[in-house]
Amino acid sequence: MINRQRVCDEFIRQASIDSPSFKEGEIAQYLENRFRDLGAAVEFDHAGEKIGSNSGNMIARFSGTKAGEPLLLSVHMDTVTPADNVKPVLNDGIFTSAGETILGGDDKSGIVEIIEAIEVLHEQKIPYVALEVVVTICEEQGLLGAKQLDFSQLTAKYGVVLDTTGIDIVVNRAPAANRFKIDIFGHEAHAGICPEQGISAIQIASRALARIPLGRIDDETTANIGTIHGGLASNIIPKQVSLRGEVRSHTIDKLRQQTELIINIVEEEVDKATLTVGEETKRASMAIELKEDFPPMQVAEDAPILQIIHEAGAALNRPQESRAAGGGSDASIFNNNGVETVIMATGMANVHTINEQIAVDDMVKASELLVEIIRRA
Ligand SMILES: [Zn+2]
Repeated sequence: MINRQRVCDEFIRQASIDSPSFKEGEIAQYLENRFRDLGAAVEFDHAGEKIGSNSGNMIARFSGTKAGEPLLLSVHMDTVTPADNVKPVLNDGIFTSAGETILGGDDKSGIVEIIEAIEVLHEQKIPYVALEVVVTICEEQGLLGAKQLDFSQLTAKYGVVLDTTGIDIVVNRAPAANRFKIDIFGHEAHAGICPEQGISAIQIASRALARIPLGRIDDETTANIGTIHGGLASNIIPKQVSLRGEVRSHTIDKLRQQTELIINIVEEEVDKATLTVGEETKRASMAIELKEDFPPMQVAEDAPILQIIHEAGAALNRPQESRAAGGGSDASIFNNNGVETVIMATGMANVHTINEQIAVDDMVKASELLVEIIRRA
């Protein structure tokens, strides 16, 4: 059913077009033509202008050949770097780059699998519902494209994002995350001449850090302080230190609690650090920048999209394993905007490294599964 040669040719064509985030214009042009040839109505939104990419998100619509709820299929067209002059190499059924760059199977394998599935639907005259294929930009830059997507343009209420490693795996849960920067301000003084007149921002930070729980907080929650910058010289009591960190949790309440706990501890230590010099009382202070990085994803095991995927897997005698992910993806954004979406594995491996690879067999398998999913939608 799946045309293995067509899968390879399609992958080589796409992987050979460099498409690092913000420079998706060329692959977008290619995909526009490819999806038009397949019979889709293709349009782009204005996300590119807003975030500084030379392409918008692409939406390709297939009207379908049977009635039913429209289905969303989504992938991203950008890649991480190094991605200058990517040359896909096929050896023993496995694609790699020539060695100097990433391969871009993340996420072009998913795009190839969608195209192959649609080719097969047409060839085999398999009836299918309306499909909305959303190919986003700048996923690798913090889901920037999906965050700018105009959801009023979508009619699908459920779907699949093809964008995770391995094969026969479906991700239905992912944590939400907060990122933060905390600046602590003390008072500068010469460390040798008048240390009594200074308040060390580094010391306040150390006292707070000694109390803040980090690492795996519970089975749903993690916390990290990833960078610390501050101070000017060994003979100056440091006036400023900046901490950057994150909290992730599968539960929004725990995310909030853990984030508040960190901020409260720093606040307490900042409040304690006062200093009276003569008439004057000096105090430390702080500033917080808090950013909600991505919302949580929780698709129930009995959700229609998961049932369809499990039935499709059973039909192929390939049980699909549900899993939790450790990070956000475009699917988090779709779910947060009312499109119930899970993530399907495309076969990609060693992603975000120059050792990235993908087996042709796995792209064939994923395409086959996708045909069965669409057939059942
Ligand atoms: Zn990806």
